Amino acid sequence: MASHAQNDISAGFLHEYKSFATDAVHAGSEPEQWNSLAVVPPISLSTTFKQHAPGKHAGFEYSRSGNPTRNCLERAVAALDGAQYCLAVASGLAATMTITHLFKSGDGILCMNDVYGGTNRYFKKIVAEVGLDVSFADFTKLEVLKAALKPNTKMVWIETPTNPTMKVVDIQACADIVHEHNKDTIVVVDNTFMSAYFQRPLALGADICMYSATKYMNGHSDVVMGLISVSRDDLYERLKFLQNALGAVPSPFDCYMCNRGLKTLHLRMKQHFKNAMAAAKFLEADPRVDKVIFPGLPSHPQHELTKRQSTGCPGMITFYIKGKLEHASTFLSNLKLFALAESLGGYESLAEHPAIMTHASVCEEERKELGINDTLIRLSVGLEDEDDIIADLDQALNAAHPKK
Ligand SMILES: *Cc1c(COP(=O)(O)O)cnc(C)c1O
Repeated sequence: MASHAQNDISAGFLHEYKSFATDAVHAGSEPEQWNSLAVVPPISLSTTFKQHAPGKHAGFEYSRSGNPTRNCLERAVAALDGAQYCLAVASGLAATMTITHLFKSGDGILCMNDVYGGTNRYFKKIVAEVGLDVSFADFTKLEVLKAALKPNTKMVWIETPTNPTMKVVDIQACADIVHEHNKDTIVVVDNTFMSAYFQRPLALGADICMYSATKYMNGHSDVVMGLISVSRDDLYERLKFLQNALGAVPSPFDCYMCNRGLKTLHLRMKQHFKNAMAAAKFLEADPRVDKVIFPGLPSHPQHELTKRQSTGCPGMITFYIKGKLEHASTFLSNLKLFALAESLGGYESLAEHPAIMTHASVCEEERKELGINDTLIRLSVGLEDEDDIIADLDQALNAAHPKK
């Protein structure tokens, strides 16, 4: 794949996936699928669909098993992931649950040690409790992954970059090691942080790509949704069965909203990258900041890997402010443009304190091991003007560290 011109922030990254923007705008939304030739997919609220004769229908029977609006969204996401199929579910965690139901008691699940708090909680407090063998390992060290694979390992769960410490995992190398160990072991990538625009796990050897679409894929902080993309027919059939049999399906209205969000995914992600790069550079050069972790910066330990497996970086930045908890608190309380709030991936800038907010449920020892301390701050850089984003960070840093 060709790389961009040197002056572009995407220089050295994978080239944008072919026809991505065209697919984002058109895939799944063909007007010819409706008698009305509606250009924008209608919100199909009907829970049931008329049959010509028993068992003879036009592709839909009951809205849990299939819905026209959901179908449009699923076909759009499949195209954007370079996948054969996609299944939409009610939340990111509903996607994790649906995928995990592929397995049964006694089966082994091996998970990256630094994952979304809710994923950690689901595997530890629910999945392990019903008799699956759940373990965790640091996949940034491939020899650690290799050693952690067991004869019963049926699923390997990767999240990259991790939250909030932004470790980047080599998807292709992990998938190769896992499939060499057992070709039937399912490799799943939680692609929430990168979105379909920046990373295609299925092209890097993963079997399943999942999202909390609540974040960048919908991108407007107004829908909770999960997505599961897959290309293998057998896996699709089993997951489609589970989507219907477990029943954690999204509403047609939310499917409409998420599909609408996807139309601008490429534009949003490009701007998130540009704004985050500017903010990361500003923070890295600032004496009031100890350390910045942003995979788009050459200072990130897996910067070269990020360029090899991604087309760019989203708006997620983690940094350590100089001082103590009080400095982090003063900084966060004085932000004006950034809202102090959990979640990420929307058009608006958000900031949060992982140790007190999103990762409070992680025990102190584990937090210490992962580097989640009192001065760690996580930013989700939005789509406002770059100058205003930097001015807000600057004035809040001034409040925390007043000039003498
Ligand atoms: C938010 C999030 C989830 C969970 O998704 P919900 O839509 O909140 O259920 C899973 N993984 C990652 C990386 C997330 O950020």
